[in-house]
Amino acid sequence: MEEIKQKLLDMQKSILADLESDRDRSKTAISGDIGDDIDYANEDRNRELYQLLCERDQIKLEQIREALDAIEDKTYGVCEDCGAKIGKKRLIALPFTKLCIECKNEEERTKGIGKMPEITTSYTGSDTGEL
Ligand SMILES: [Zn+2]
Repeated sequence: MEEIKQKLLDMQKSILADLESDRDRSKTAISGDIGDDIDYANEDRNRELYQLLCERDQIKLEQIREALDAIEDKTYGVCEDCGAKIGKKRLIALPFTKLCIECKNEEERTKGIGKMPEITTSYTGSDTGEL
C-alpha cells in the first residue's frame, strides 16, 4: 500500500507544482502548448482553456485527496459496489478507481446497452416456439 500512497503523493506534488508554475506565467502562456500561430483574438479562448485545465487538475487533486483519505481509513482498494478487494495491479494503474474490474466491466456493459436503440421492442415475435 505504501507504493500506491507514495504514487498518489507524487502525483499530488506534481499537480500542485504545475498549478503553481502556471499561475506564475501569464494567463496566455497556455497557447505555448497549442502552437505559436495563435493570435490575440484567441486570448479569451485560451483563458477558457486554461480554466478548464485548472478545473481538471482540481478534480484530480480532489480524487487524490479522497484516495489518500481512504488509505488512512483503511477503506482504500475496496470495491464500492460489491465490497471485494481491488487488485493491486489495477490500483497502481488506476489509483482513483472505486470499482473492482468485475463491477467496472458490468457498469460499462450496462451503459453500453443503455445507449443502444431498442430495436427489439417492436418485434412481436412469431410462432417459433415457447422459450
Ligand atoms: Zn466490485
